[in-house]
Amino acid sequence: MIPFNIPPLYGTEESYMHEAVLSHKICGDGAFTKKCDAWIEAKTGTTKALLTTSGSSALDLAALLCEVGPGDEVIMPSFTFSSTANAFALRGATIVFTDIRPDTMNMDETLLEAAITPRTKVVAPMHYAGVACEMDAICAIAKKHGLLVVEDAAQGVMSSYKGRALGAIGDMGCYSFHETKNYSMGEGGAILLANNALAERAEVLREKGTDRSKFLRGQIDKYSWVDIGSSFLPSELNAAYLYAQLEAADAINEDRLASYQHYYQALTPLAEQGCIELPAVPEGCVHNAHMFYIKAKDIAERSALIAHLKEAGVGAVFHYVPLHSAPAGLRFGRFCGEDRYTTRESERLLRLPMYYGLKAAEVDCVCDAVAAFYARPARKR
Ligand SMILES: *Cc1c(COP(=O)(O)O)cnc(C)c1O
Repeated sequence: MIPFNIPPLYGTEESYMHEAVLSHKICGDGAFTKKCDAWIEAKTGTTKALLTTSGSSALDLAALLCEVGPGDEVIMPSFTFSSTANAFALRGATIVFTDIRPDTMNMDETLLEAAITPRTKVVAPMHYAGVACEMDAICAIAKKHGLLVVEDAAQGVMSSYKGRALGAIGDMGCYSFHETKNYSMGEGGAILLANNALAERAEVLREKGTDRSKFLRGQIDKYSWVDIGSSFLPSELNAAYLYAQLEAADAINEDRLASYQHYYQALTPLAEQGCIELPAVPEGCVHNAHMFYIKAKDIAERSALIAHLKEAGVGAVFHYVPLHSAPAGLRFGRFCGEDRYTTRESERLLRLPMYYGLKAAEVDCVCDAVAAFYARPARKR
């Protein structure tokens, strides 16, 4: 059996967690949290990085920082995770969904400007599979219209766009360290802040609306409630687990990229025969092999292929049901323009096993099972 995902375990996690236990400092913002924040800042060049309890809570914090409310509009692709939309819907904002590009499954930057109204406050691109959105175009349009850019870079740790780290391009970026992501702490995430004003306020909102962080640094002699906020700090135990993986990020990244390349090569003949489509990585984008997906002809063929792979002991899964057609999407948002690709492409996509430690022989096994499916006469698929 080749599972779809195995949470990353590098090997140094336990000893770092043990160290955290012995430090008798297991609440948030201890030594390991600071090491993780510093790692993200050094790696991405962002002004300030702060660990959060999840990728979703990083998005919640970003939405709070955007100061959106009822009547405001936030533009995002419909093909994304519920958390991208929840963060802003929780503030009472209206979600405006746009169509995606079929090549990367990312927000189509050429449709962004038409979705902007006088009520638009934020654009929230999501980097699907760790492959960057067309950020130059998105940021230029946002600047022209005075919009904030919040990157949902939950899948984009270690990816870049024209040399800039994903999550560190817009005003704010959100990472996830959930166990399904490339680097994990079980549940966790981080927010990246592009400037000092946002960084200072994020620190307060994250600490229950208090200026406790300043107090702990000795910058003030008492701390008090100064703003709205909540607790977005993860425990040191989780941060210790994550730090082990961040330290080994290059090795983990290379391992995943090798699996990705192997899939790509092994499946190229099937793509050349027109049976499947393989993922595209535009020029200027360096990705992190967050996932390897293929596209079948349509939803019926995809369902049959998933069932066939399951029988062969391979865990393959589909991905997002477009938000605009989901019950909450209908309540809290609207689709702008024509749904040319979102529904059609999302119904064709399936994800193959991808995790740190996946072996070349296992990738071959998966690809053989896919090839066996397409070797059958079309009516028997
Ligand atoms: C994983 C993910 C999230 C949420 O992250 P959690 O850490 O699970 O809360 C948000 N957006 C996208 C695109 C994701 O893939």
